[in-house]
Amino acid sequence: MASWDRNTIILLDLVKQPENARCADCGAPDPDWASYKLGVFVCLNCSGTHRDLTDVSRVKSIRLDNWEDDLVEFMRRNGNAVAKAQYEKSVPAFYYRPQQHDCVVLRDQWIRAKYARQEFTGKNGHLQKAYSSGKACEKSTILSNVPACQTYTSKVAKAIISVRNMNAVFQPEKVGHQNGLQITYMTEDRTRNLFVYHENGQEIVNWFNAVRAVRYAYLRKALAPANDSELMPLLTTRSLKEGYMEKTGPMQWEPFKRRWFVLCSVDRKLLYFKTPMDALELGAVFIGTEAHGFSVRETPTRGSRGSRWRYGLTMETPDRNFIFMCEQELEQRDWIKAFQQVIAQPLLPQHYSSKEERREELSFMAWTVHCAQRPFFLFLVEANMKRKKS
Ligand SMILES: [Zn+2]
Repeated sequence: MASWDRNTIILLDLVKQPENARCADCGAPDPDWASYKLGVFVCLNCSGTHRDLTDVSRVKSIRLDNWEDDLVEFMRRNGNAVAKAQYEKSVPAFYYRPQQHDCVVLRDQWIRAKYARQEFTGKNGHLQKAYSSGKACEKSTILSNVPACQTYTSKVAKAIISVRNMNAVFQPEKVGHQNGLQITYMTEDRTRNLFVYHENGQEIVNWFNAVRAVRYAYLRKALAPANDSELMPLLTTRSLKEGYMEKTGPMQWEPFKRRWFVLCSVDRKLLYFKTPMDALELGAVFIGTEAHGFSVRETPTRGSRGSRWRYGLTMETPDRNFIFMCEQELEQRDWIKAFQQVIAQPLLPQHYSSKEERREELSFMAWTVHCAQRPFFLFLVEANMKRKKS
């Protein structure tokens, strides 16, 4: 047997071992590539970033390339578990570890942070300064209302954003930029969107993790004694579903209007906007449980009165029934499934903090009770992020 045949068999055997069976960087199953400088098995997507980091990493295909004996021996002695112990030794609890389907900038910067900048080996002190604890972040400043594509230079903060209801999530498609970030927060009683990007991937990912760092510091106090596994899902809230539907007014004879809907399962609310890039919500609906009178069902087409779209659904709440129309049947099914998922979730302590508030919560604007309370921290950041005009 030729040595490269034998070496391929050894590598294929190595990559089947549990610690190597997923990409070292994004967790994708069955990695096909390996870095023979770092000793890690990675997926095709992550191998692309490794290929750019020629100083620290060199990749080969496990199946297609020839492997010399000493490189195979190096892979055998190292592997994903050994590399993880070294390069992910001190990843802060709040730091986001990207998954297979996350956007490119998150995966790309995670790999650069780990191996090229060695931010998590425990030997590098700069990380704490970059993201800082909640205490330091209280002193930093965020600038919203930056004119589109202009760098902000003034020393005066244009907005003070409470950490309490703040959320940052990458939305490259919506923002129309590969580093597009959507920051959401409450202003008075309404949800406000801020769409920003930064040409530098490291900058925007640092901002994303800085938001997570202050959220983490805040929630540790606000939800004490919750542990990290309970807090982690609350640091970044992704919408369960977004998309256009048509809605009518409370009397249900008003003309149907097309609106952009966003369903958030963590805070159990359905927000609607005129367009995906709107700054301010037009309205919001709290979604309780079935025991509290919330349900969703398909609506017969003939009841839609003037809607251009055919596939309807009705969401029943204790105070009002909402009729939504979808353009496609598949969309209608997806929305019904998403609403059912939220309705089936048990109410959690963060949805109410006293019996009085729980009573309030059963009406639509219940979460504003919580938002009206004073936040622990004010989050102010200073940045030269560019704002996408919404
Ligand atoms: Zn990967």
